[in-house]
Amino acid sequence: MKKIIIAIDGHSSCGKSTMAKQLARELGYIYVDTGAMYRAVTLWALRHDYFSADGSISPRLEEDIDAGRVTIGFILNVETGLPEVTLNGESVEAYIRGIEVSNHVSPVAALPYVRAFLTRQQQNMGQEKGIVMDGRDIGTAVFPQAELKVFVTATAEVRAQRRYDELVAKGQPASYEEILKNVQERDYIDSHREVAPLRQADDAVVLDNSNLTREEQSAWLLRLAQSRMG
Ligand code: C5P
Repeated sequence: MKKIIIAIDGHSSCGKSTMAKQLARELGYIYVDTGAMYRAVTLWALRHDYFSADGSISPRLEEDIDAGRVTIGFILNVETGLPEVTLNGESVEAYIRGIEVSNHVSPVAALPYVRAFLTRQQQNMGQEKGIVMDGRDIGTAVFPQAELKVFVTATAEVRAQRRYDELVAKGQPASYEEILKNVQERDYIDSHREVAPLRQADDAVVLDNSNLTREEQSAWLLRLAQSRMG
């Protein structure tokens, strides 16, 4: 079977990473969560107080990136067997999923210099193919040549409920109303930004998983991937 690039894009919190992770495991492919990379850059900006009360972001973020002061990578957690995103070598997985980073990430991800920085790195990761990458612009901007593109969506309410359940299961504080508002705001910003907005690639297969179980979804995706791999 030939090695391919699989791009999984879609709205916030619709289970893209869970399905991408499982598919990568089944195929023996590398999995890359590009949302975690944008979240890690956002964490850097939060830690350095780069957000003003009016919502603007300090130009120092761009200076830091240009000067090479921000490096994003992945390491394998040997206990869980899962990749974790790193910020300057520190695993920051535990700090990037909460509401504070979620509330600040979309404006950071709309900055052209942040997108250029991370897109370059993502393209390098896919040079050898054999990769499943999830995000918002993988099939449209990072790998327009991907052999399989899936665009995932579900209603905002279903997605907010899932994220709420996930945070509660991890013992993190969560409010359904706040999460729903965050999901809707991120959808809006992600779809309306100038550089690489969230949109379905013309050749993407659409998956609305509002009413699908995880098992149904995984089986469907695995069949689809295998058929593209020949
Ligand atoms: O996938 P996740 O919800 O963790 O992504 C967090 C945010 O990062 C998204 O809401 C979006 O603003 C941004 N993002 C992006 N492009 C990607 C992946 C994520 O703009 N490829």
